[in-house]
Amino acid sequence: MDRRITITSSNEETITFGRELGARLQAPCVVTLVGELGAGKTTLAKGLIHGIVGVAAETVTSPTFVMMNLYQKNDKEAYHFDLYRMKHPDEFVWQGFLDYFSRGGISIIEWSERIAPLLPEERIEIELFHQECSDQRKICVKCHERML
Ligand code: ADP
Ligand code: MG
Repeated sequence: MDRRITITSSNEETITFGRELGARLQAPCVVTLVGELGAGKTTLAKGLIHGIVGVAAETVTSPTFVMMNLYQKNDKEAYHFDLYRMKHPDEFVWQGFLDYFSRGGISIIEWSERIAPLLPEERIEIELFHQECSDQRKICVKCHERML
């Protein structure tokens, strides 16, 4: 297991970190984003999606109400989930979301705890933490060595 810790000092830095990481990811894969409200999950997802698909970070919006937004350019795809409002893992299955794990693109999942039993064991887990300084975040990336 590979663990990397990074501290960012602004939302721009978190987007840049996400962009660089996103560009290195090999599809298909699942990336989980864990952290409390305001920890920076959506901000990091903006960077990741820019790095994966090539769309501008500003065009990425939180899928809080629709639960999933799909980004697609050329042959690259990212599926951005926000499962905050999901009450049971079965809902994820009923919505047909499980199919995205085998569609060939990269799934990015905020509030992945909501579907813990459905997550593939091979995944990239990213945890974000508020720090004492209000614009700092600690970002911990955990995955198998061969995935990054
Ligand atoms: P979440 O999706 O985890 O609820 P968001 O990404 O929507 O969090 O919000 C994070 C908030 O924190 C944004 O308002 C962002 O501007 C702010 N912020 C301040 N510093 C940082 C940082 N270093 N990284 C990410 N976001 C930051
Ligand atoms: Mg969010």
